[in-house]
Amino acid sequence: MKLAKYILFALVLGAVTGVLINLFASDYFSTLDSYLFTPLGTIFLNLIKMLIVPLVFFSIAVGVANIGDPKKLGRMGSQTLIFFLSTTAIAITLGIIFALLIKPGVGGNFDTSGLSYEANEAPPVSETLLGIIPANPIQAMASGDMLAIIFFALFIGIGVAALGSKVETFKRFLEQGNEIMMYLVGLVMMFAPFGTFGLIASAVGSQGFSAIKAMLLYMLVVILVLVVHFFVVYGSAMKFLGKQNPIHVMKMFIPAMTVAFSTSSSSATLPVAMNIAQEKLGVPKPISSFVQPLGATINMDGTAIMQGVATIFIAQVFGVDLSVQEMIIVVLTAVLASIGTAAVPGAGLIMLAMVLEAVGLPVAGIALIIGIDRLLDMSRTLVNITGDLTCALYVAESDRKREAKLAAKQA
Ligand code: ASP
Repeated sequence: MKLAKYILFALVLGAVTGVLINLFASDYFSTLDSYLFTPLGTIFLNLIKMLIVPLVFFSIAVGVANIGDPKKLGRMGSQTLIFFLSTTAIAITLGIIFALLIKPGVGGNFDTSGLSYEANEAPPVSETLLGIIPANPIQAMASGDMLAIIFFALFIGIGVAALGSKVETFKRFLEQGNEIMMYLVGLVMMFAPFGTFGLIASAVGSQGFSAIKAMLLYMLVVILVLVVHFFVVYGSAMKFLGKQNPIHVMKMFIPAMTVAFSTSSSSATLPVAMNIAQEKLGVPKPISSFVQPLGATINMDGTAIMQGVATIFIAQVFGVDLSVQEMIIVVLTAVLASIGTAAVPGAGLIMLAMVLEAVGLPVAGIALIIGIDRLLDMSRTLVNITGDLTCALYVAESDRKREAKLAAKQA
């Protein structure tokens, strides 16, 4: 908890520094950024990224090897996917409803002439799905291709479980690898306050405040829906599905939230998030190592919220009325888009192009929101990573219940 306090303090200090530089010393920003903020941030980011691939590999392989029973694995998998898909659908729907009510794109003075946005080719969803099976697992690890790594680790885990005592030594190796990674996460987090300060000062300092003013209502709507989703949807899921005190969970999860906020990357937050789930919140290791890496990759409610609000906002700015059917298409494509969104900064914006295209809205509208997206990216990543934890708590509780029932039956 002491560390959490230091990190929070660093976050505030970074934000204040960024604002002050923006207001009074913008000429010095680039020097300070390249000699102080960015190096601090990059040291932290690299330290933590260094652990992602081995951590995900070891922990999933060990987790699956320990679960052993393929039926249990299937049950956990389907629970996880249903939770992910339904919370994401709720998230976009909330985004759309709030944007329709508050109308952030109506009445503002938005200059749409000459807007252009080069939509980066988003990979087709079919490609993302087929790419889950890595033709070359080493290559998948080298390029940090998370879904493919998860798939390979799952297979290794199944093999280890099936061969049992024959591969005792290898299983020990995986367990010890996992143990070492978790220890290193704790060690790397000691640097988190410095990294957070650098990342936040750099992100806030580089924002153009005039752009923020014009887009304020849009930003407020996104943030409002993020807050509602966080406290209402996750809060009740933690309480009723995970049988945990939401305030306690959120408090314990602060270090992970600050890392998400400062890095804008779900995958960079993964090591810390898993560490807290396992060591502080009692989520069994096999469940945490299965649900959280998968969630960091495919479950992005915060991103879905931004996509819902942004779609309606852009429609409003361009004076397009979307029909109910079109809005349903938005919900469906945004669920797919958030699955396909990479867990790195800014990825959600690229996938937004796919949602806009699905209902024939001008992709150039993205140019309006790109300037202020970083600040929203920080907040939505925090929501994304909390959604994965909430799912892990739910799957853990339902597993606990099942085990207790089985034990009672046997007694
Ligand atoms: N930065 C987000 C994440 O990593 C993805 C996005 O919405 O851009 O969770």
